[in-house]
Amino acid sequence: MICSMNFVNKTIDPIKWIDSHCHLDYEPMSNDIEKVFQNMKTHQVVGAMSISTTIGTLDKTYSYLRDNLWFAVGVHPLDERIEDIQEIESYLSEWIGRKNVVSIGECGLDGFKGSNLKKQFAGFDIQLAYAHKHKLPLVLHMRDAEDDAIAMIKKYDGIKGIAHCYTGSMEFAKKVLDLGWMISFSGIITFKNANQVREIAQFVPLDRILIETDAPYLAPAPHRGKSNEPAFVSYVGKYIAQLKNIDEAEFAQITGNNFCKLMNVKCESFDG
Ligand SMILES: [Zn+2]
Repeated sequence: MICSMNFVNKTIDPIKWIDSHCHLDYEPMSNDIEKVFQNMKTHQVVGAMSISTTIGTLDKTYSYLRDNLWFAVGVHPLDERIEDIQEIESYLSEWIGRKNVVSIGECGLDGFKGSNLKKQFAGFDIQLAYAHKHKLPLVLHMRDAEDDAIAMIKKYDGIKGIAHCYTGSMEFAKKVLDLGWMISFSGIITFKNANQVREIAQFVPLDRILIETDAPYLAPAPHRGKSNEPAFVSYVGKYIAQLKNIDEAEFAQITGNNFCKLMNVKCESFDG
């Protein structure tokens, strides 16, 4: 049984996790956002990035603005407005440059169950163009479209980003690392059938790894099946630290530093 009491007697620095990907606008989190922040504290989670999936998401989540809460602005490939290029552009323009809006996403390509990729190309491309122009990292959602995604990203020289909630192949992971990108792992890594994900997490070098919840989805064990929240990134981090045979506090520090460096932010109460 994993519980936060385990952390108490450590002689090393306090553990400080950062959740690189959650959706605070989703229920049930949005029903009691103060509780979400309180639970983060209890689980030693000192920061989180709330990710936009559709036009207007940030109108809601930005009202939660505080230290160590960052935002990504973008439109998901399966969103019904992914072909409204003008609307996407005005959404991005409205938010880029505002305090703590530090990245573009989540955006990308999703070919799951025969989804029409062609409908998604222009919407992804414009978000890549904005990330490139504004020198902002991109939060990539990518499923069953690896070659197309890599080809589109490569059109934009020097763009940086995160392959989020990684469940792809080892081959694609290597391509992502070759781009200089980070790979982020969610609670899926704690699932019994996730052997390939675990193998890839072991392979990804420490300076390229991030952790996330993708809350409210994908709660890690021992909360699998329940609603997820940023506090539970502590379980993901603890799990991967054990997998990679590294001290938890050190792993928290490394992933936190990776996040801050990529997002070009200073993390309050995070001095690593
Ligand atoms: Zn997400």
